[in-house]
Amino acid sequence: MQESVMQRMWNSAYLSGGNAAYVEELYELYLHDPNAVPEEWRTYFQKLPADGSTAPDVSHSTVRDHFVLLAKNQRRAQPVSAGSVSSEHEKKQVEVLRMIQAFRLRGHQAAQLDPLGLWKRPAPADLSINHYGMTNADLDTTFRTGDLFIGKEEASLREIYEALQQTYCRTIGAEFIHIVDSEQRSWFQQRLESVRGRPVFSPEVQTHILERVTAAEGLEKYLGTKYPGTKRFGLEGGESLIPMLDEIIQRSGSYGSKEIVIGMAHRGRLNVLVNTLGKNPRELFDEFEGKKKVELGSGDVKYHQGFSSNVMTGGGEVHLAMAFNPSHLEIVSPVVEGSVRARQDRRNDANGDKVVPISIHGDAAFAGQGVVMETFQMSQTRGFKTGGTIHIVVNNQVGFTISNPLDARSTEYATDVAKMIQAPILHVNGDDPEAVLFITQLAVDYRMQYKRDVVIDLVCYRRRGHNEADEPSGTQPLMYQQIAKQRTTRELFAERLVQAGAVTTEAVQAQVDEYRNALDNGLHVVKSLVKEPNKELFVDWRPYLGHSWTARHDTRFDLKTLQELSAKLLEIPEGLVVQRQVAKILEDRQKMQAGGLPINWGYAETMAYATLLFEGHPIRLTGQDVGRGTFSHRHAVLHNQKDESTYVPMNHLYSGQPAFDLYDSFLSEEAVLAFEYGYSTTSPNALVIWEAQFGDFANGAQVVIDQFITSGEHKWGRLCGLTMLLPHGYEGQGAEHSSARLERYLQLCAEHNIQVCVPTTPAQIYHLLRRQVIRPLRKPLIVLTPKSLLRHKLAISTLEDLAEGSFQTIIPEIDNIAPAKVERLVLCSGKVYYDLLEKRRAEGRDDTAILRIEQLYPFPEDDLVEILAPYTSLKHVVWCQEEPMNQGAWYQSQHHFRRILAGHNKGLFLEYAGRDASAAPACGYASMHAEQQEKLLRDAFTV
Ligand code: AMP
Repeated sequence: MQESVMQRMWNSAYLSGGNAAYVEELYELYLHDPNAVPEEWRTYFQKLPADGSTAPDVSHSTVRDHFVLLAKNQRRAQPVSAGSVSSEHEKKQVEVLRMIQAFRLRGHQAAQLDPLGLWKRPAPADLSINHYGMTNADLDTTFRTGDLFIGKEEASLREIYEALQQTYCRTIGAEFIHIVDSEQRSWFQQRLESVRGRPVFSPEVQTHILERVTAAEGLEKYLGTKYPGTKRFGLEGGESLIPMLDEIIQRSGSYGSKEIVIGMAHRGRLNVLVNTLGKNPRELFDEFEGKKKVELGSGDVKYHQGFSSNVMTGGGEVHLAMAFNPSHLEIVSPVVEGSVRARQDRRNDANGDKVVPISIHGDAAFAGQGVVMETFQMSQTRGFKTGGTIHIVVNNQVGFTISNPLDARSTEYATDVAKMIQAPILHVNGDDPEAVLFITQLAVDYRMQYKRDVVIDLVCYRRRGHNEADEPSGTQPLMYQQIAKQRTTRELFAERLVQAGAVTTEAVQAQVDEYRNALDNGLHVVKSLVKEPNKELFVDWRPYLGHSWTARHDTRFDLKTLQELSAKLLEIPEGLVVQRQVAKILEDRQKMQAGGLPINWGYAETMAYATLLFEGHPIRLTGQDVGRGTFSHRHAVLHNQKDESTYVPMNHLYSGQPAFDLYDSFLSEEAVLAFEYGYSTTSPNALVIWEAQFGDFANGAQVVIDQFITSGEHKWGRLCGLTMLLPHGYEGQGAEHSSARLERYLQLCAEHNIQVCVPTTPAQIYHLLRRQVIRPLRKPLIVLTPKSLLRHKLAISTLEDLAEGSFQTIIPEIDNIAPAKVERLVLCSGKVYYDLLEKRRAEGRDDTAILRIEQLYPFPEDDLVEILAPYTSLKHVVWCQEEPMNQGAWYQSQHHFRRILAGHNKGLFLEYAGRDASAAPACGYASMHAEQQEKLLRDAFTV
């Protein structure tokens, strides 16, 4: 122990002998773990200065007096009174307190978590009394129990040890000591220790659990018999998931929750759909038999299907939604979070009381996929929190064929990643359904009380291979030998209940028969299912169904109201000191509003938001730098230079306006974009935008783009109006930030699945954003947004362009050039247009027209045909792009141009002017960039 103020105090006459030794031991213990000592001691130790000086607010003598008093009290509590015997007992007392802490910290390592009994874990040394210098001879000695919640201040060592064993080392392994907040730790201690890890459930509850496990087993058996060898990714081995979900739903309902959104992968999904969400088994059988008629573009396999239903709980009707999911494991988790947040926003449920997310994971993916970490990281941030997610890891101990933890992960448990946000982790043996029920109750209560994530690790097994056509014993021989011998969860549980006299054998059999009969008759098997669901509980999507992209909708907006809204945005509260450059932007906006300055991009975009809010559409805008905009064009959030307080003018347009939710996201693309996908597929009335810091960063979220945004409607019939703003433009800034990889999006275009636009004027972005919500069509919108064009002298619009007009899919020639004289036509998209325009003006050419294709997909063929019609003397048609030949729109869009040119004049051949094919998107040298740019412009006028 260090020489310290403590040492000097002990030297006083009062603190000699046994007292001093006792307090020293306590202090040692406190240094090791502050929570291991009783509260009153902790409070005093905390006040002691680390450097040995006296704490300013606690005088030396006051501390000493208190120690004397405390030590005396402590001594009085000891059964043995004085001298060395007392000292020995006090020493052991300290050890007992340390042992209690060790069980809380490490008891899970000795818990019987594996139903197969195959885990070989060394017994933790510090969970034995010997480790603490005690022997069996001490078992009947009485010790103070400290903060052990067993309802007694003192107990024999035997009782304390047994209580710890029962609480922490049976079929529940609780990890919560990593939580820094002592109240939460204490909460778990109390809940677990007070019932010694196992409350007594009534026979009614036990029968209900058995019924749910019977349902879980019954469905798999039925499907296995009826459709042998057909893939279903059965739940067999993990049947306890069904009573667990039942409890989460019922208990959340009792807390007053109205909606629950579930995300899960394929394993056990059919079981959850039928036994939890109440999908009609007959519908599932039809899918197995391939009878289900195709309603959608491509459709998807049955174990990716989502589902919605309403069930009745003690707290009223609850709407359940299972999210559709792709095969990419874990990516559905942030989608679920986004959907939940949208529902919470709709209900003004800022705390997350009304809508609860459940994320069901596989152990291997939970440990392996980076999006898990991203999703945890977002869980408490302002823009993405949902009041805590209940995570369930269906831990079947195998990832396809990998079960050796040495290959599967570097952590002890698959769940260790959850410790990054100090989530409590409750491991439970899946073959003990009562323990499962208990930790489920704990998980729900914790989530509801602390509004934080909690993880249940349901340790189970996989009775069959990865799927039903797969033979697992080739790679897991010993595990599968054991599984072959293993009786099912239901059999084991039923036997226990029969032995305990809670149910009869006949009742057990009756449950099995009843379930099978229900399936035979194609009846719903969820008793709480509401047959006539209350539709108020979810959004009506019917107004958004069945629209074509070509339908025109009016995006004009009354000029006077627009100016009034603009004026509102420029009203800054008193005392708010804005930074100099920001002040200049606001000053310019004032002039634009008055018609004294042409309108720039930032102003037009801002007014698109303001006018949409005025028309009743909420707006959500997230991304890494959206408040300011990567290139400082937006400044939607004003930062007070005096105190860093912030003010968002857009939220102060008028009282009762819809929300303008703008959040700088944390530095993730994958989870954030997935979240926004989930949000937008749940909020048809809102303009939901994700903006990339630079367009190419979206490739960090490629799974979301491929698996959800571009294909979700065709696979699952889920409409999505998400907008992605992707800064793009060749400015000589190097390989990384030039390209938003336009070619990737164009390659994914088919069957009018998404819209890809490259607007080049402020009015175009204004009408495009407005069109996205005003038009009832809900299609993802990919927008390549500019960088230098944000301030380009030619990229301007007028107030009238905003008040009138519409989004133009193609912008025709703007200069006064007679079409009949035009021999060369240059087609282009984006910023290169202004370079072409300036060059043509500089060269004074009137034989060349330039058209801007502002919407590359769905390709506006009719508009192009119409615009081309007057160009009767064409000899050359060139597609000009800044991107290398293998990138940009050239390969992906040329078939559209060629088709229309062939219809216009069969002799016309489409030429290319642009960079040569290149491995990197752009070069890293400014001089090389300038040369390339000059050449492609020259080519546009000469090839
Ligand atoms: P949910 O609350 O997600 O269960 O949705 C309730 C119902 O609304 C679903 O059964 C669908 O009929 C419909 N729905 C939900 N989301 C969408 C969407 N993105 N596109 C089309 N229909 C949807």
